[in-house]
Amino acid sequence: GNHTLIAPAYLISQIKQMVEETFPKSITISTHIGSDLWAVSGDETQLHQVLVNLCVNARDAMPNGGLLKLSAQNLVVDTSYTQKHIDAKIGAYVLLTVSDTGTGIPSEIIDRIFEPFFTTKEFGKGTGLGLSTAIGIVKSHGGFITVSSTINQGTEFKVFLPAFIPSP
Ligand code: ADP
Ligand code: MG
Repeated sequence: GNHTLIAPAYLISQIKQMVEETFPKSITISTHIGSDLWAVSGDETQLHQVLVNLCVNARDAMPNGGLLKLSAQNLVVDTSYTQKHIDAKIGAYVLLTVSDTGTGIPSEIIDRIFEPFFTTKEFGKGTGLGLSTAIGIVKSHGGFITVSSTINQGTEFKVFLPAFIPSP
């Protein structure tokens, strides 16, 4: 990809604008940007696509409206993460969180949602490629994704991207 240094706050603000301009007015967006965020080295177009795909899924999960929350924070991943998440590696990350107050994901299918062409949407409404694309991009950036979901309450995706720490 075409790697540059990206400020996470910039990514989030771009997405917030896209949501405000294109999503139904019944969906409220709130953003929270941590202070002194680390930068991320990556392909801006691809990382933008990851957040778009997650937000489109959040929109689809809230047909009657709801709250879409986006946040960015610095996070040091330690063994408490690597014990829980097979893909997690110890290090400094920028954590981007996308949460919705939608339908939630049934536990019977949650292990399959990242598979290419897996979709629960009616024909023509979903390709089943959003999450497989997202995880491919995140993995190619050295990161990982986690998901937690509760039926009828909502879903939270966490995107961990390695922080760019300038060498002295
Ligand atoms: P698509 O959106 O085209 O169906 P995705 O790969 O983006 O494909 O998502 C796969 C499936 O994961 C969706 O069809 C849906 O069942 C589930 N899913 C993903 N995100 C959410 C979410 N935020 N809330 C509820 N279900 C979700
Ligand atoms: Mg999708």
